[in-house]
Amino acid sequence: VVNENLLYLTNSEIREIQNDRLRKQISLLAEASPYYEKLFKENNIDVSKIKTVDDLVNIPVTTKKDYLRDPESFKLVHKNPNVFDTVWQVMYSAGTTTGKPAPFYWTTYDYYSSLQQMKKSAEIDGITSKDLVINLYPLTSVPHAGYHRALDICAVVGAPVVSALTGARYPEFPVHNSTDHAVAMIEKYRATVLMGIPSFIRRLLLMALNEKRDYSSVRMVRVTGESCHKGVRDNIHELLEKLGAENTFIASSFSSTETSGALGTECKELGGMHCVSPDFYYVEILDDVTYERLPPGEVGLLCFTHLNRRGTALLRFVLGDMVSITYEPCPHCGRNGMRLIGQPFRTSEIVKIKGTLINPDTLKTVLTSITGIDEYKIIFTKENLQDPFSIDKLKLQVSAKEGFNTTLLAQEVIAKVRNAVEVTPEVEFLTSTEIYDPRKSLKATRIVDERPRWDE
Ligand SMILES: [Zn+2]
Repeated sequence: VVNENLLYLTNSEIREIQNDRLRKQISLLAEASPYYEKLFKENNIDVSKIKTVDDLVNIPVTTKKDYLRDPESFKLVHKNPNVFDTVWQVMYSAGTTTGKPAPFYWTTYDYYSSLQQMKKSAEIDGITSKDLVINLYPLTSVPHAGYHRALDICAVVGAPVVSALTGARYPEFPVHNSTDHAVAMIEKYRATVLMGIPSFIRRLLLMALNEKRDYSSVRMVRVTGESCHKGVRDNIHELLEKLGAENTFIASSFSSTETSGALGTECKELGGMHCVSPDFYYVEILDDVTYERLPPGEVGLLCFTHLNRRGTALLRFVLGDMVSITYEPCPHCGRNGMRLIGQPFRTSEIVKIKGTLINPDTLKTVLTSITGIDEYKIIFTKENLQDPFSIDKLKLQVSAKEGFNTTLLAQEVIAKVRNAVEVTPEVEFLTSTEIYDPRKSLKATRIVDERPRWDE
């Protein structure tokens, strides 16, 4: 039974639908997914015993590494395929570690389902046929989801859409437009909705401001692809106001190539992202070290399971994002089900400090490898936090294990960190409890970026 208003059911009713979907999907994976068939066998998993989403914890997680090793093994090979199992399109993840984009297959079935999911998310964020949308996702050399889904959501709600077609030019087929063209387009078409990546939209707004454009028609900015925290939102609102657009709504939705659809959509800014299609996704939050499932409210790794998918299908797939979830009814719209709280942030997000790009995961690896260290915290800060132009600083708070000489330990930390990331850290010794007090917080915070975000 297809229920158009799943989010108005009770949480236990939603859970029943998820459990039912899961049982069907798991038995499909057992016979049609080369990767999971092998995984179940190797781990002696009896799929008939996976009856509810709570039983998922008995199945190992799938990481990006697992996926990248052999993307084709995640594409279902149906025993008795029907016409809806035809490959409709292939989306690619953005640059991977190997530099080779990985394919994600969408069947006709998956495509139809995503259209229906987008219809539901439009009900939440409010795009209608009365809007005029500018699609500001770039036209890329490999198909990325943003561009296509922007067109699809407009198709499914019946909204007219104009694509800006920005992106790297291809000399033989000069179809791309300049960003100047995109800036002019918004005014020319009297756009009501802008869709795109937050940092790109912000850049366009800055350009528009220089040209004194009239963007008074804009009522909404719908973003995905990047975390859209309060700082960026305030900035976008401010720019839009200067361009004549007042009381704008910035709707951030969370999706990735791997999810193949939106995991979350906002009904109100920073009000939490509703999992629009709980019959398609089950979301878990996991400890970033042990992969143990964490209760609602705790921040951890976002992990999802496809509950109804026939192209590329993933089970307990760990995205590189940290977030927490809640099952409380939404205080803004009253819908039930799961919401993502706060903006997911990348654990492996590359940090630029003193002009050098560093991966916090590299730092974590170095620090955990030093035997004299008990607890640690990595802080990206500035010489003077009040002055956005002052020099970046890498500060490491560490606690020494008993019997270790702190002077020697500091020398070791400085040498190893400098060697790994080419930045000399400042080392501060604290007690373990000062760095992480398990009585006060359930999890240690390893990385803190104190620097103001919009200092360019
Ligand atoms: Zn809501």
